[in-house]
Amino acid sequence: MTTEQLVKKTLEKKLLLVNLLAFSLASSFAVLLIVSYLWMTARSDLLRNAEIVAQVIAQNSAPALLFKDQKAAQEAVRALAQDTNVLAGELRYPDGSLFAVYQRPVNAGQAWQIGEVSQTPYLQTPGSHFYSRYLVVTTPVMAEEQQVGSLQMHVDLTSTYQRIAGLIAVIVLATLAAVLLAGRLLKRYLRRILNPIQQLVMLMQEVSGNDDYNQRALIPTDDEIGTLGESFNFMIEQIQRRDMAIGKELVERKRAEVQLDHIAHYDSVTGLPNRHFFNRRIKELEYRVKNFARFGLLFIDLDNFKYVNDTFGHRIGDLLLIAVADRLQKTLRSNDLVVRLGGDEFAVLLDNPKSTDDALRLAEKLLALLSQSFSCEAHEFNIGASIGVAMMPDHVGTFEDLLSSADAAMYEAKAFGKNNVQLWKPAMSRRTAQRFTIESGLRKAIENAELEVYYQPIMELATLRVAGMEALLRWKHPTLGFVSPAEFIPIAEESQLIVLIGEWVLQQACSQIKLWEQQFGPLFVAVNVSARQFRQPGFADSVERIVRENACPAHLLELELTETMLMSQTSETLAILTDLSSRGFKLSLDDFGTGYSSLAYLKRFPIHKLKIDRSFVSDLPGDKDDAAIAQAIISLSDHMDMRVVAEGIETREQAEFLYGLDCTYGQGFLFSKPLPAPQCQDFVEKNLRRALRERII
Ligand code: C2E
Ligand code: MG
Ligand code: MG
Repeated sequence: MTTEQLVKKTLEKKLLLVNLLAFSLASSFAVLLIVSYLWMTARSDLLRNAEIVAQVIAQNSAPALLFKDQKAAQEAVRALAQDTNVLAGELRYPDGSLFAVYQRPVNAGQAWQIGEVSQTPYLQTPGSHFYSRYLVVTTPVMAEEQQVGSLQMHVDLTSTYQRIAGLIAVIVLATLAAVLLAGRLLKRYLRRILNPIQQLVMLMQEVSGNDDYNQRALIPTDDEIGTLGESFNFMIEQIQRRDMAIGKELVERKRAEVQLDHIAHYDSVTGLPNRHFFNRRIKELEYRVKNFARFGLLFIDLDNFKYVNDTFGHRIGDLLLIAVADRLQKTLRSNDLVVRLGGDEFAVLLDNPKSTDDALRLAEKLLALLSQSFSCEAHEFNIGASIGVAMMPDHVGTFEDLLSSADAAMYEAKAFGKNNVQLWKPAMSRRTAQRFTIESGLRKAIENAELEVYYQPIMELATLRVAGMEALLRWKHPTLGFVSPAEFIPIAEESQLIVLIGEWVLQQACSQIKLWEQQFGPLFVAVNVSARQFRQPGFADSVERIVRENACPAHLLELELTETMLMSQTSETLAILTDLSSRGFKLSLDDFGTGYSSLAYLKRFPIHKLKIDRSFVSDLPGDKDDAAIAQAIISLSDHMDMRVVAEGIETREQAEFLYGLDCTYGQGFLFSKPLPAPQCQDFVEKNLRRALRERII
């Protein structure tokens, strides 16, 4: 059996084989020892017997030799016939000559004996010598202490051999029987001993095959197998525990992954997919673009969300966003995707709309929905939205272009007066590009001296004398030409640029105040302040520094703020306003009536002037509502000890009507458009001269 074959055998067979082999080897060794011992004792017994017989015969034949009595000698050696093992006996004289012989009669089968015996050399020296088949014993024949001859005897070993062979056969048979018996016993006991191991093996196979770690090994014995079973149980218990821990960890990890994916791809406020999700989705849909599938994109921007957020805080703002998301989701089909792109911007990706008209109809429907009021806690909001619509492949060929086109159309909707839907046209994207040009150009505008401050006179309606001016920023772009502040100020507000520009305007206005004061006496100049500038830490300090640097009287500088700026973070706002007012600057509330002013706040704030927005003036005096609003603002400000400026007066009737309502100041094209400082100076001079003339007249 090769080692390879042995390795493949079962443990039971291996143990059986090894045991039997060891047992057989031991038995063989024992048999060998016994046989050797038997041979030795048989040999020595035979030798001793033979020597005794030889000595007796030698003694008996001594007289015959002494007296050379051949007959007696023959008689003496014939006595050897008594011993059946003696083959022959020879009596010789000391010189070796034969005296008497005994020869056992032989049958045919024993012919060898005669041959071999006759060939055996005569041994003169007494002693014995074993040959393979017989023993030769030579004994001296002594008479009166003299050797008178010698007897040589041949003893047959056959019967000794036969006896030993018989014994060996018995021993070998007994050993074989013992080996067989041992084999049977071993088999039985080994099976008993190995049974728990086999069960353990089967259990292991079952555990590893089914991954069932609930199984346990039975522990029937206290020996090493029992310890093995215990160790096995301990091990699978450990594995089970580790398995459970790993399983738990995997579940945790999976959950964390899902959570992370959710955080990364969904908006935390509304729960809608976010911009990342949108980007991933459009990549997945790329193959359908190649197959000319149609997609529509509605770019939605809420109109007055910033106001709600600034005025009522982020919590209410978030609630409003959730309500908006809810309305959008409820209206859309399941295969249309609505995402929150950020802030108050949402996008709806329409999958396979039948036509552009379909997309527009849906946009109108969403607009109508978003125009309905939202109630968040105790508040009611009417916000509305501006929606831009673009189609693929009708308008563009990629999702990136689809998004930017819908964005451009949305901007157009905003510029169109908000709360409307615009379908993308090539010119819109050009305007978006222009917006980008404005943003990048604005950074260099101050350095390149492209900015200039214009001044629009503000008249005292009672005397029609110039009371002050409003500083209005103008930008002459090298390629775009004149750019309106209404267009570039919001862009500047999106970055820190507004702070830089605002300080520059203040600088210009303060030096102008100083010049005009020297020339015409006190004339106030109102400077528009943006929300970002107003909330900039150290704003009051920077205003004071500029005023001081220009040696400008603080009370002639008026800061124009808007309602929305004041309605948010009221305690902080109040602190800034109080600080500014205590430093001697005048504060006026611009575009009054267009926002959501709270009269309660108005009472608390140190405001000096209210500016009635142009929208309430333009239809005067015909429009009764506007007339009532103008009148209400004027009487309110009178009660609160504030002055009123009516903006956008373009006709004489408007001026007279407002004067009739006791409005203190008026500003508008009727008196003058915003003018560069030198022309404004001319205007003031003329106004002064006319006043003097009228007084003279
Ligand atoms: P605003 O402060 O309400 O300024 C009045 C706007 O009404 C000016 O537009 C002025 O030219 C215009 N206006 C005055 N009288 C009439 C009139 O009779 N009819 C008509 N149709 N319009 C009249 P402008 O100069 O285009 O400024 C627009 C807005 O840009 C300003 O509104 C103000 O909010 C902002 N702005 C202008 N300059 C600055 C500035 O230096 N800083 C900041 N933060 N904002 C500025
Ligand atoms: Mg203003
Ligand atoms: Mg205004």
